[in-house]
Amino acid sequence: MYKWNFDSRSNGWDQRESANIMAIMDDALRLFGKGFLNLIPKEHIIKNTQDTPMVEYKGDNPISMSELKEKYDGVVELLKSDSKYTSTLEELDGIIREMELFDDDNLRQMNADDVRELVGRIQNLSECSRFPEIADVLNKFIDDIGEVPFTEVILGEAYRDEKIIIYMQSINNCSSVNKHALVEQVLVHELFHAMHYHYSKPYIKGSWDPKSISHSAVKESLADFFAYLYILRAFYRSHDMNYFILSKELKNKWNTHRFPNYPYTGAKVFGYGKDESFYEAELIEKDCLFRLVQDKAMEQWETPYRVIMKTLAGGEKAGKEEYYRRHPIDYLVTEKQFEDEYERKEYAGLLKLLEKNYKIKINVERFPDYTIDDLRSIESSDVCSSPKYSNEEFEKSFYSGLIHEVNEYIDRLRREMY
Ligand SMILES: [Zn+2]
Repeated sequence: MYKWNFDSRSNGWDQRESANIMAIMDDALRLFGKGFLNLIPKEHIIKNTQDTPMVEYKGDNPISMSELKEKYDGVVELLKSDSKYTSTLEELDGIIREMELFDDDNLRQMNADDVRELVGRIQNLSECSRFPEIADVLNKFIDDIGEVPFTEVILGEAYRDEKIIIYMQSINNCSSVNKHALVEQVLVHELFHAMHYHYSKPYIKGSWDPKSISHSAVKESLADFFAYLYILRAFYRSHDMNYFILSKELKNKWNTHRFPNYPYTGAKVFGYGKDESFYEAELIEKDCLFRLVQDKAMEQWETPYRVIMKTLAGGEKAGKEEYYRRHPIDYLVTEKQFEDEYERKEYAGLLKLLEKNYKIKINVERFPDYTIDDLRSIESSDVCSSPKYSNEEFEKSFYSGLIHEVNEYIDRLRREMY
């Protein structure tokens, strides 16, 4: 594991640290899969040993009082089931009655501080610790109230692809994990931001800075998963438990706070269904959800955000379906109906071309709601003006019986032409 100097008097990176940074950058760039470049010269990776900046997360909006009461009925039911819970129930009832002040019609709605107070008081119910069997229900109730605002220490920052700051003091204060490994994780997380920005299309670059919740959710989920992947990979290579503990800690963070208020939480969707072989691999799998979302996040925010949301709610299958519903041509390119990727790409291109030249709407069978016409708005610049292939050539090359939509197309085309 690389070692770092946390001395607050140390001025900039020393020679050994600079070499560490270069090695980590090489590794991260290779894993990112876009080749090598002089991304962020190492003198623009700043070591800050003085500041410990904080960031505040607002917490989810609390639910309405009527919703809250509904959830509360379930808790009451349980507490009534045994007389030993009577005093807990009375105490809880007192708290809830006070909260009824915040009727839905009331002008003053529950704000973050009210939620904080409410949750704190329920957590501290005097009888609570005596009855561990009711803890789950109470915790669930607390969850339903909404997430309490919280602050977190900032460990690193990236400014586009121009500058990275590593806050050594903040990292040094993290006692639960190995601080040397943590520097590595933070650096890789920030490097991901820089690479994401660097390789993005102008639209993403242009909308990079103003912080919208969905944009940061996409950015941070990707960067945190990338760092996670890097750290787990380091563990499988070195069998150094410090890396493993660090990865656990990251996952723990994602499971504790809600998405998208806590923008990092979306990172967990990229690990769904992945095992050791995924994290051990030299490079990231081509068609995995992470790659799909990462590549799309260089063009637009919407699909990545929706896919993360869908995956969180319904698992990886739901997320991929959402992705391909939005980008059916990508599906044709990815589906392994043809032997090699070149053929698949060519096939997808031909579908677009045919649609344009014969001015028909082609329905891709698996996505009846989507027409190639919808896609034209996205990729019109890629479509050539004249077909490279005649009908006959097209048929010969692609009417293999494997893709029966092709057959249907040609038929439809002929019917419409003559
Ligand atoms: Zn970040």
